[in-house]
Order: sequence, then structure tokens, then C-alpha cells
Amino acid sequence: MAEGTRILLIGPPGAGKGTQALELSSAFSIPAISTGDIFRENVRNATPLGLQAKSFMDAGNNVPDSLTNDLITDRLASPDCVGGFLLDGYPRTTDQVRHLDDFLADHHTKLDVVVQLVAEPDIVVERLRKRAVDQGRTDDDEAVVRHRLDVYAEQTAPLIDVYSARGLVAAIDGIGDISEVTQRITDALHARGITP
Ligand code: AMP
Repeated sequence: MAEGTRILLIGPPGAGKGTQALELSSAFSIPAISTGDIFRENVRNATPLGLQAKSFMDAGNNVPDSLTNDLITDRLASPDCVGGFLLDGYPRTTDQVRHLDDFLADHHTKLDVVVQLVAEPDIVVERLRKRAVDQGRTDDDEAVVRHRLDVYAEQTAPLIDVYSARGLVAAIDGIGDISEVTQRITDALHARGITP
């Protein structure tokens, strides 16, 4: 079994995954891997992957599993992931769960925990409204945000049951100051014997 900590962060858009991913990445000295960030960078640089992903992202839909799974295989095979990693925004579909399961099995390793950040839709819509102003993300337009929440409810929320059945889910209240939420996560991980 490989050393290191392997964490998934799951939760609706606007729950604060990106922010908490950075906190945990630094606490555990593991890379935080956000498929959304990787796609956005590819869109910015107009790479072939970015050109394929852009229309799905702008509409608030998931990028097709085949593209996303290939991307994550490449990223997780990088040397910096050997000692653990945190995934933010992946997996998002049952097909991606299967892909990740296969990857981990092939590498003789497994997930330690799935951190579920819980936040009510009205609150995340308001947070994303602010982010649209601050960061200018085209998929933070309100209609697109509502659609992304529906996509989350339909395609991603069911994954929580899948991982719960494996005893991996720590559900954390995502509302509060950044440091407060980080502390809640750290406490929940500690209770499971997961420490930096
Ligand atoms: P995020 O930054 O996680 O909110 O992702 C922004 C957008 O990138 C999503 O709305 C999707 O279009 C795309 N995306 C990110 N991660 C995935 C994934 N695991 N599967 C499919 N599409 C994704």
C-alpha cells in the first residue's frame, strides 16, 4: 500500500471546495487537483482539450467522462501524486467513480476519506453571485449556476451514497468562516485517524 493521504472533496458548486482544498493541500502536503481548474487553464490556453471542453463548461454541463477520465489519469500518474493527493470536483459521475476505482486498484492504493461539504442551494447561489463579480467566471451567471446545481443533484449527489456505503464519507457543514470550516474538516479527519 502506498504511503500518503488520498482525499476527495465533494459538494455542490459554491460550497467552498476550492478554498478548503488549498487549506487541506497545505496541511497534508499533498497536491490539490481541481479538474475545473485544469479545464479552465486549457480553455484559457486554447488547447485541443480546452476547445472540446468549453461549450460544456459554458452551459454548466459536465464535460464528457472520456475526456475527464483521460485528464485525471494523466494528472494522477504525475510523480507529485505518489505520496497522496486531494481531488476537488472529481469524480462527478458514476462512470468517473469506476474509473478512479480502477486507477487506484491498478496502483495498489485506495481513498482514505470523502469529505462532503454541505451547503444549501440558496446560500451557494448567493456565494456564486459574488464570485461572478469578483472572478468573472462565465459559468457563474445565475441561470447557469442553477443548471450546475441541477447537474450536481442529478449526477454527483448520488456518489455520496456510493461512498457512504463504503464508510468513507465525512459530512461537514460548509457554512461559516473559512478557518471554522477547515477546523471542522480537520477534526473529522482526526476522528478517523487521518492526520498530516
Ligand atoms: P468546477 O470548477 O469544479 O466548478 O468545474 C467547472 C466546470 O468544469 C464544470 O461545470 C464542468 O463543466 C467542468 N468539470 C470540472 N470537473 C469535472 C468533472 N469531474 N467531470 C466533468 N466536468 C467537469
